[in-house]
Amino acid sequence: MTAKGNKTSRMQAIEQGLPRYFTGIPCKHGHVTERFVVNWKCVGCDLVSREKKRVKLLKVKLFKELTLQKELENFCLENSLTLISRKQASETGSKYYFTGKKCKYGHIAKRLVTTRYCIDCHRLDAQSRREKKRNKKIKLNEQNFKKLKISMEKYCFENGLKILTLEEAKKQNLIRYFSGVKCAQGHLAERYTRSNSCCECEKLKTRKMARKHREKRSEYMLNWRKLNQDKTRNGWKNWYKNNAENVKRYRQLNSEKYLYYRWVRIARILQATLKEVNPDEIKAIYAERKKISEQTGIIHHVDHIVPLRGKNVCGLHVPWNMQIIPGVMNQSKGTKFDEWS
Ligand SMILES: [Zn+2]
Ligand SMILES: [Zn+2]
Ligand SMILES: [Zn+2]
Repeated sequence: MTAKGNKTSRMQAIEQGLPRYFTGIPCKHGHVTERFVVNWKCVGCDLVSREKKRVKLLKVKLFKELTLQKELENFCLENSLTLISRKQASETGSKYYFTGKKCKYGHIAKRLVTTRYCIDCHRLDAQSRREKKRNKKIKLNEQNFKKLKISMEKYCFENGLKILTLEEAKKQNLIRYFSGVKCAQGHLAERYTRSNSCCECEKLKTRKMARKHREKRSEYMLNWRKLNQDKTRNGWKNWYKNNAENVKRYRQLNSEKYLYYRWVRIARILQATLKEVNPDEIKAIYAERKKISEQTGIIHHVDHIVPLRGKNVCGLHVPWNMQIIPGVMNQSKGTKFDEWS
């Protein structure tokens, strides 16, 4: 090193292998300092320029920090966040803290005091987890649906049903569809496409409602019948006329049912017959009925004045409770009995 007082030329410095030399001549800025061998530059000038650079960089840095802070403040205002350190947050018992620093995935968000985990990351994680779960469920559902189809194949074939999903049923505009799964009440029944509710349950519900409103309904029906007497009377008559063939066929097909009814009636007659009555008297009444029917050409029935199976009273199968009337009248009378007539 060359001391400030000892003057050396550049050539001498090069020969001695020194980095600087000193001529004692001031530079154009008036520094009387050493100069660098490499570029003839004054050491004083170098120091000054370096200092200037440092100050400039510092200013830029400060400016950047300031703008960043302003942006952060704006961000806080927009998102109604407050700057709070982790320590402060844990002291105040708050669950989150917010420093304004980005997380490693670039989110500027609150962080959990316990794990330092950014809540945006947390949310995304939860979302992806949920999606995975959903996909898994869909896959599982598809598998289950296939299994269900296979296991219910026989049942469907026997009952003429076809297993569909709700989406398929909606696409086909069906009112009902068969899902193949029991409802919560355990009915293996069809479901309504619109509400996805079990048809059997709906039926029971409506029945329950009907039971609840039976009184109201019966009152309404009574009024309706009074107002539409002709309709109800002629309605049945006309129906019988129009469906005579069908009725005959039905009775032939279900003869055992009618035989059963007849025997029930016979049993009831036997029960309602008094022992003192002479069977011949009753037989005579039936014989008379036959005679009248043949004479008039209109079918007559032997009617019980007080019905054997009345609602309020039960009559007896005895001659004084019998009358011969045209069949049509008997049919319209049914088992109604007016005590005061
Ligand atoms: Zn200088
Ligand atoms: Zn994050
Ligand atoms: Zn049900």
